[in-house]
Amino acid sequence: MATPLKLNNTLSRKKEIFEPLEAGFVGMYVCGPTVYNPVHLGNCRTFTSFDLIYRYLMYKGYRVRYVRNITDVGHLTDSGEDKMAKEARISKLEPMEVAAKYANDFHDMMRIFNNLNPSIEPQASGHIIEQIEMVQQIIDNGYGYEVNGSVYFDVAAYEKDMEAKGDNAPHRYGALSGRKIDELLSETRELNSQAEKKSPSDFAIWMKAKPEDLQKWKSPWGVGFPGWHLECSAMSTKYLGETFDIHGGGNDLKFPHHENEIAQNVGCCHRGGARYWLHTNMLLMNGRKMSKSDGNTVTPDQLFTGDSPHLTKGYSPMAIRFFMLQTHYSSTMDLTDEALQAAEKGYLRLMEAIRTLGKLEVSGKAQNETVGKELAEGMAAAFAEMDDDFNTPKALARVFEIVTKINALAGGQLSTDEVNPATLDRLKTDLHALIFDVLGLQDEAAGGSNAHTKALDGVMDVLLDIRQQARTDKNWGLSDQIRDALSEAGIKVKDGKEGATWSV
Ligand code: AMP
Ligand code: ZN
Repeated sequence: MATPLKLNNTLSRKKEIFEPLEAGFVGMYVCGPTVYNPVHLGNCRTFTSFDLIYRYLMYKGYRVRYVRNITDVGHLTDSGEDKMAKEARISKLEPMEVAAKYANDFHDMMRIFNNLNPSIEPQASGHIIEQIEMVQQIIDNGYGYEVNGSVYFDVAAYEKDMEAKGDNAPHRYGALSGRKIDELLSETRELNSQAEKKSPSDFAIWMKAKPEDLQKWKSPWGVGFPGWHLECSAMSTKYLGETFDIHGGGNDLKFPHHENEIAQNVGCCHRGGARYWLHTNMLLMNGRKMSKSDGNTVTPDQLFTGDSPHLTKGYSPMAIRFFMLQTHYSSTMDLTDEALQAAEKGYLRLMEAIRTLGKLEVSGKAQNETVGKELAEGMAAAFAEMDDDFNTPKALARVFEIVTKINALAGGQLSTDEVNPATLDRLKTDLHALIFDVLGLQDEAAGGSNAHTKALDGVMDVLLDIRQQARTDKNWGLSDQIRDALSEAGIKVKDGKEGATWSV
């Protein structure tokens, strides 16, 4: 029997049974990337985690509206400059060119890792009207004030009202991140415009533009642009409603981004937005958070080619996806060459077993279907792990117990008489569903349509062209050298009337 789906709700700090607002439907909002430079593997980890969650919700039969935004305005650097504007200035591009370039790069990466497209991918710059309306409503409700063309969220006024609702009010400022207002006062990072605010913990929801700012819009408070946190409140409300099911993001966004989002939602609509908050944990490299701002990153491309001092070789996208799935989304994971090597081995072993399973035939002649029952129980246990807050490492551990049995059935150590054909069919269906549909893995050896395969095709075209030129030039030495080197790499080249072809 199917187990209920449980989620670790980071707002309540409890593992809760998931019950959507409307039976059969799920609304999920995930903070997307700020598109001002290439995604790194840490970003990919977070989005792959939510891809897995999206896939599993659909597998459970929910119709999911998955909204993942693109931040292309208002996200400031620590020094107060807009990240998009800074990149536009440095690279002499329009901010929208910067956004398009890196959004395309992001989409390519999502496809390479076989992440599904969200249902809606709204851009902050395309939702300025909604954000202005939200600012106005927050002001009207007494939680926002205008100073010199900028509008700030009045944290003290908000918190006073929340406090009046009692200590357990779920939307008190600091409830999500566990921070106290006093601490916030001393550590607030928004150093610019500090003098304008009533209190250092107040945050900008609308910012007055400077003459040199590239992205700016007219508003009731003058020309400016929205504060970063506002876009997610405005777009989640627009597409999912004032109350919706799930909100996700990396746990580095808990404060201030998500804390401020909740305050804005309540401040505007008297409702807190999401009922369940899910936070993914960080990908580390050398024990430190992988982060653009301090240069501790490895790009997916470096991982594919192995072109990084941290790696001894390249790894395929699916080996890397498998690597990510081996850790629960809420735990940190450290990227090391050894861990990637182990993941690659595990991934290849799993794909091999699935191919073996495809060819396996059983008779079920034995009176007791002992092995068949174990296989069915193992599969049910794997899905039960998924129901327990999407526990992919434990689900994979169950799957590997099944892999051992598949190999033993194929090798004769277990009797195929002890599995009924119907049980085998069921196992094939369920294992395929879990591995390919839910975990989103692809069998690269079976020609999965991923960038690696395409890249290899491209490289082979170039090599065979060079070899053809060598043959035309009667440079037999070079021609043979290319063929022999490829052969050593496991690629056979065959010369025919139409030119050379290759196979692995
Ligand atoms: P950004 O483009 O910086 O706004 O980040 C996009 C998403 O990636 C956010 O949800 C971040 O929390 C997440 N993220 C950033 N760094 C890491 C990391 N090292 N590991 C996992 N997720 C990360
Ligand atoms: Zn957000």
